[in-house]
Amino acid sequence: MVLELRDVSVAYDGVPAVQGVDLTLDDGQVLAVLGPSGCGKSTLLRAVAGLEPASGAIAWDGRDLAGVPTHRRGFALMFQDGQLFGHLTVAGNVGYALRLRRRPRAEVRARVAELLELTGLSGYADRLPGTLSGGERQRVALARSLAVEPRLLLLDEPLSALDVGLRERLATDLRAILRAAGTTALWVTHDHEEAFVVADRLAVMRAGRVLQSGAIDEVWRAPVDADTALLLGYARTLDGAAAAMIGGAAGIEPGPEGLALRRSALRLDDDGPLTGVLESFRPTPDQVRLRVRLDGPDVGGSAPLYDAVAPLDRPLVVGERVRVVVDPTRVAPLGSRSLRGSL
Ligand code: ADP
Ligand code: MG
Repeated sequence: MVLELRDVSVAYDGVPAVQGVDLTLDDGQVLAVLGPSGCGKSTLLRAVAGLEPASGAIAWDGRDLAGVPTHRRGFALMFQDGQLFGHLTVAGNVGYALRLRRRPRAEVRARVAELLELTGLSGYADRLPGTLSGGERQRVALARSLAVEPRLLLLDEPLSALDVGLRERLATDLRAILRAAGTTALWVTHDHEEAFVVADRLAVMRAGRVLQSGAIDEVWRAPVDADTALLLGYARTLDGAAAAMIGGAAGIEPGPEGLALRRSALRLDDDGPLTGVLESFRPTPDQVRLRVRLDGPDVGGSAPLYDAVAPLDRPLVVGERVRVVVDPTRVAPLGSRSLRGSL
């Protein structure tokens, strides 16, 4: 591993913002830190950058970074708003740090061209930031961050100022760029879909603490508890008899804390093992979203109502008896793994 955090805490005026965080990151990997606004993600990033005094240990390649100032850590930061120099061209922005280091002009030119190519910006060299779209500006910001070949790139919600469709596309592109450049990165986001696209490893954070961390698919498939599952975008969690019923239909054993369902885990199917009554339905562009009252145990003391989906061409009548299948890839056992098990 290259980056190692042990029991890292940060407090502002005695109020803890980050508490007891343990994380590791391997060379060339992307670790996404996922958590809601205010949970301490930026504070953690700033501590790694050396911009925030922290207790505990932060080490790079086995060497403790305490006492190593920000500019000697060899890390680069990229923010939501890119923070480009408005009076410099794209090429001027990307080459800025290299010129600051007095690299020979020909080398700067070649490196800038290479980075523009890598980020899909060839042909943009002479444009000013004010003439670029939000997505293009973030590509420039990434190219600029990569110019000095940082040992670690720290990205603080780099896509959150963009609209949803663009965010998804750019997340995929940035991921490919980081991989092509072999960059080790810590990527902070509140968006679980973005985290899933960009990361090899995932740490889920809430209220200053890491709830769970590990390889992304491991965390995804087995959240440690209900809170973690909801942060990962699961729509609902079940325990007791309801978890047993849904798990049984999916062929998945619920964990000690029950089961988590994604929103489209249940689907109408005339051969499905579960039965119930259609309570309501609402067509969307992709499929029909339903509420079904399943025959079975109450859920948390209330009627066993579940979200389900059906194809758009399925005729539906409120009150009809229906059969339902459960997609095992959209259901996860809860609590099967020990906290912070494998990272
Ligand atoms: P996130 O990036 O996950 O939204 P932050 O790390 O920005 O969260 O903030 C974590 C907590 O620390 C919040 O409660 C925030 O109000 C507090 N905080 C952040 N920066 C400061 C600061 N400079 N001074 C005091 N409190 C701060
Ligand atoms: Mg933040």
